[in-house]
Amino acid sequence: EAKRRGRDRTEVFSPRLREHASLRADVADELRRALAHGELVVHYQPKTELATGRIAGVEALVRWEHPQRGLLLPEDFLEAALDSGLILPLGAFVLDRACRDVQGWRGGEGVRLQVNTSAEEVLHPGLVGAVSSALSGSGLDPGRLELEVTETRAFADVDAAAHQLDQVAALGVTFALDDFGTGASSLAWLQRFPVSCVKIDQSFVRHLATSSTDAAIAAAVVTLGHALGLQVVAEGIEDARQLELVTALDVDLGQGFYLGRPASSAETEALLLAR
Ligand code: C2E
Ligand code: MG
Ligand code: MG
Ligand code: MG
Repeated sequence: EAKRRGRDRTEVFSPRLREHASLRADVADELRRALAHGELVVHYQPKTELATGRIAGVEALVRWEHPQRGLLLPEDFLEAALDSGLILPLGAFVLDRACRDVQGWRGGEGVRLQVNTSAEEVLHPGLVGAVSSALSGSGLDPGRLELEVTETRAFADVDAAAHQLDQVAALGVTFALDDFGTGASSLAWLQRFPVSCVKIDQSFVRHLATSSTDAAIAAAVVTLGHALGLQVVAEGIEDARQLELVTALDVDLGQGFYLGRPASSAETEALLLAR
């Protein structure tokens, strides 16, 4: 028995795992410095109203302008931010920066802003304060801000999460359920939280032309969303065929490289001005 336990321990603390953990700790140290030195930036990806082609909103996506490694994506540092608690200052930074950018753009009138919010932020009591200070600091109309929350099993305390989201909703901010269909509790989510939009995950959009299963799932999400009075967004539209298919499914809004890639604040302002 002791020998078996010993073997298990060896596995848990294998050199590979230890190396991985210390690598993440290094990233966290660097990220702390990056936040203080203004190396994090926010890019924006347009969200298009499918019926009209109009840009209805932009999604804020965090980037790290690393002095040595170049432009880093969330997949390179988000996990380290979550593990280290840095996701809270990171999230507050993105909210603040994005609200100021959108409010400041010429040509951006009426365009809404979507900001991704992790489960950790949703459960943290500082969320309401972070949202209201980003709004008051920028002057952005709360009705133009939407928080995208990814469905997750991490909501150990559903009541606490619902309470927080209700408080933020009371500010006039809305919620979108991100990556819909990929998590464990999508339907319970719709029942418990003040959601006004669902985003069909890109994994269902990718094979829309060839997979009748994916097409049936996407169609069902549209029917469900509309029956509940929600807006339905399709993510990850990469070509004309996918755009045609989601439009035929009566999806309200589309997002994807085919419609517009994430771009800097200045590039996004230029795009909006050129409309
Ligand atoms: P998400 O919220 O589902 O965002 C969509 C991701 O798909 C973005 O990746 C976007 O660049 C990418 N994308 C958009 N259109 C297409 C397409 O047509 N094809 C493909 N293959 N990909 C497309 P990104 O920027 O790397 O972000 C990844 C994830 O990181 C986001 O997924 C979101 O969950 C998270 N994230 C991004 N910014 C933030 C942030 O400020 N705070 C938090 N908490 N999470 C963030
Ligand atoms: Mg999102
Ligand atoms: Mg998504
Ligand atoms: Mg995603």
